[in-house]
Amino acid sequence: MARVLICDPVADDALNVIRQAGHEVVVKTGMDQDTLVETIPGFDAMVVRSATKVRVPVLDQARDSLKLVVRGGVGVDSIDVDHAEKLGIAVKNTPAASSVAVAELALAHMLACCRGVTGADHAMKEGRWEKKAYSKGKELFQSTLGLIGFGRIAKETARRAQAFGMNIVFHDPYATEDPSIAAKKVDLETLCKQADFISLHVPHNDETHHILDASKFAMMKQGTVIVNCGRGGTIDEESLLQAIESGTVHSAGLDVFECEPLTGAESPLVKSDKVVASPHVGAGTVGASSRVGAEVASIIVDFFK
Ligand code: NAD
Repeated sequence: MARVLICDPVADDALNVIRQAGHEVVVKTGMDQDTLVETIPGFDAMVVRSATKVRVPVLDQARDSLKLVVRGGVGVDSIDVDHAEKLGIAVKNTPAASSVAVAELALAHMLACCRGVTGADHAMKEGRWEKKAYSKGKELFQSTLGLIGFGRIAKETARRAQAFGMNIVFHDPYATEDPSIAAKKVDLETLCKQADFISLHVPHNDETHHILDASKFAMMKQGTVIVNCGRGGTIDEESLLQAIESGTVHSAGLDVFECEPLTGAESPLVKSDKVVASPHVGAGTVGASSRVGAEVASIIVDFFK
């Protein structure tokens, strides 16, 4: 029997699967790092989503008992993976469970940007019927979508974009064209020059830091729409704001930011009426939570078999 510490919310059905396999489940969410360091000794496994970070002091404190850290989600940037490996602690995640949810949000941001959905709603709630102002929308139909990154989420986005009649190009040095999706591989410069919509689906690392910067915005068509449901730090936000102000960028749909949490109170970018912002909720659907939970449960049950 393993003792499993659940540090962030996980679906009840998933917790029951772990219990039914004979393991003890302790749910203690919302802990700060000090409380986590005090709590972790004696547990064989811990489960985190995005809120809880698993840093060196937590791993050191847990080294006598901890065998497995499971991150319910895509990236493992919230875990000091190298240190865990040094201590012989396995780190696993659930990379595919939320792909569809994030792809749907990317499409939602594209549509909201090109039809001014949030602005029109805001105006009506404040008592204004601004039919003329919102009658010059853009269409996805027959426009070109440039995907930066062509992994799981980008491919789900491409499949849905095809249904809207978009032409698709992608830039990803590590991916090849997929025969099931009509998307052409191009270099980043060509993508920036050709695309009407650019959607980012890359992790944030040294190579992708500010992959869209002033030099890339300068190559884009007038009126390009930018969507980022990937990771903050991949867009130079100051250059994006300038590109919006100059009209190069028509509007931007942003779910992730260089510094999170962030609101319009601190950020002129978020405050801009050309920006549709959401608080890093790409994976935030009931369906994705339940798939993440099921995958977390099966990782734990298999690991301790
Ligand atoms: P994935 O690993 O399947 O795809 C990432 C792709 O990026 C890979 O194909 C890789 O080759 C490519 N890539 C790496 N470096 C690149 C570079 N320099 N230029 C172009 N492409 C490069 O990952 P995924 O599941 O598709 O997730 C994509 C991103 O979405 C991740 O960063 C993930 O953290 C993020 N994400 C966000 C949310 C959210 O809530 N907004 C939820 C889940 C995932």
